[in-house]
Amino acid sequence: MIDKVRRIYDISIPLTEHLPVWPTSEKFNITWVKNIDEDGINESHLSFNTHSGTHIDLPYHFLKFGMKMGDISLDRLIGKALVFEYFGDRNIGPEHLNKITIPSGCTKLLFKTINSVKYLMEQNGFSEDYVALSIEGAEWVVNNGIDLVGIDYLSIQSFYDKDNQVHKTLLQNNVVILEGLNLKDVRNDLYELFVLPLNIPKAEGAPVRAILIKENA
Ligand SMILES: [Zn+2]
Repeated sequence: MIDKVRRIYDISIPLTEHLPVWPTSEKFNITWVKNIDEDGINESHLSFNTHSGTHIDLPYHFLKFGMKMGDISLDRLIGKALVFEYFGDRNIGPEHLNKITIPSGCTKLLFKTINSVKYLMEQNGFSEDYVALSIEGAEWVVNNGIDLVGIDYLSIQSFYDKDNQVHKTLLQNNVVILEGLNLKDVRNDLYELFVLPLNIPKAEGAPVRAILIKENA
């Protein structure tokens, strides 16, 4: 008899000073306020933009009266998730998404793209040329009952989309956006997703620890 194996994939990026950040954002920073040789303990102070590393965007990020962290329950952040692999260099649109069959009970969709192949989240500098979701793709996500969508770089929308329609379309429909994912080790498959953000009630988003679990891997 073969033992059933449960595999846990950590799909979050380590928070370090080397992380790429949005061009207008401050870098993640750790400073030591106490040092074990002089003070008997080590103690650190962290400063970072909310959208550092692997993080979620909530409606309040783009909408004046949108939901904040304090308005969202963990039920919305845990559940079946489909990883969809797409290795083209154009933004993801209905022409790609129409090939997906969403399993019943699955409302979360993660995009693994060439951003992962190029290790963009592990490079120091910000890359403008990442693959993102098109506005038509965002409409597809909303119309297909997806309540959480994720991608393997710092924004779900292209760097060149300056009107923010992709974010707004998703967030107006209360779709949670999960950005900065590390999807190198996972493939096209159905998983159980757990997204645990820092609980900052007033915030428009927060860094998260996100994992995928595959039973019988
Ligand atoms: Zn964000």
